[in-house]
Amino acid sequence: MKKTIKQFNLKNKRVIIRCDFNVPIVNGKITDNTRIKSSLETIKYAIRNNAKVILLSHLGKIKNEDDKIKNDMYIVYQELVKLMKKKIKFVNNTRGDDVDEAVRNLKNGQILLLQNTRYEDLEDNKESSCDEELSKYWASLGDIFINDAFATIHRKHASNYGISKYLDSGIGFLIEKELKEMMPAIELPDRPFVLILGGSKVSDKIKVISNLIKKADHILIGGGMCNTFLLSEGYNMGESLIDKDSIEYCKNLLNEYSDKIILPIDFVVSDEFVDKKGTIKDISEIKDSDIAMDIGPKTIDIFGKYINGAQQIIWNGPMGVFEFNNYNNGTKKIAELISNNYGTTIVGGGDSVSAVKSMKLENKFSHVSTGGGASLKLLEGGNIPGLENISDIDDYNILKKKHF
Ligand code: AMP
Repeated sequence: MKKTIKQFNLKNKRVIIRCDFNVPIVNGKITDNTRIKSSLETIKYAIRNNAKVILLSHLGKIKNEDDKIKNDMYIVYQELVKLMKKKIKFVNNTRGDDVDEAVRNLKNGQILLLQNTRYEDLEDNKESSCDEELSKYWASLGDIFINDAFATIHRKHASNYGISKYLDSGIGFLIEKELKEMMPAIELPDRPFVLILGGSKVSDKIKVISNLIKKADHILIGGGMCNTFLLSEGYNMGESLIDKDSIEYCKNLLNEYSDKIILPIDFVVSDEFVDKKGTIKDISEIKDSDIAMDIGPKTIDIFGKYINGAQQIIWNGPMGVFEFNNYNNGTKKIAELISNNYGTTIVGGGDSVSAVKSMKLENKFSHVSTGGGASLKLLEGGNIPGLENISDIDDYNILKKKHF
């Protein structure tokens, strides 16, 4: 486990907290403030412990001056004031004299929010390319750095990785929760452990498969991904999405792990990539003009048997083109089946999480991860930029044993 905010003496210290305030904004209004709310626990803890709090976050992408207007952090500032019911200072800048002065004037228990860190991207992509001088400058504003922006831990940016190189650093409560839920399941899974993968491309998930193939008892593969596996076995997949560069990889993996990898045996197919009623076909019936859009009912039954027999399930990626109402059945049924499992059930990845949320099943999962790319990165194993410079204080396996 990583060092957390609780391991620091915050009193009188300037504490930089990297939050994830990247909320959706439509017509100048925040349409979902969940991310701001999720940051409050760490911010409140810091002010309760008499820190001088400096908040940093990105908001959207900044490529031109118009993007700056659309993604001005002031809107987050207003929402934060409402949620915190407290005066907060805002500086309409990411560096410079006014930032320095606001930091100098901060008193214990006060909060300062700076402008969108990605405003720095307008000049040479300074935030997103982890510019050294910018990283050092931001680090110079604080004594302690707390990273609580889970959704960006997979990125090597100045406001997370960059600052953590120069300050004593830890994680906030949001990242702590994600790691506590995800890491023991990855490092020391309950068995049988069933991994379910979907989504579009095999190549995006090769590292996840490589990291978990030995640990998982079974990997159920649906979505666009399974097409390439089936093609590598010699099936005609018609006009279905194929990841040509991964055919050889799939073939080799199936040779080595034929007992672990479970592939669909039927599909809902269409002759066009549009949202119209499809036809259910067995894999052997697929014609040259067919597109596999969703897994079929026999596959759902088979996947269901593995899901019911599992003690731990990790799911990432939709089973079909779930954005189309005619092809969301597989994803919905899999979500429902997992939600009825009494073991450890974890879902990560933007699309599968939205499916779970749209069905109001969040509370029936052990953990619904808040970061798509970030949770995929945890599943891949290896170095995680946003956590790399934060010291380890406990082993995840020990953590799990302590749990029970
Ligand atoms: P990912 O970001 O890799 O999890 O992929 C999510 C995307 O995969 C979604 O936009 C789905 O529409 C897409 N997808 C899932 N199944 C299929 C399929 N059978 N054919 C094409 N795209 C698919």
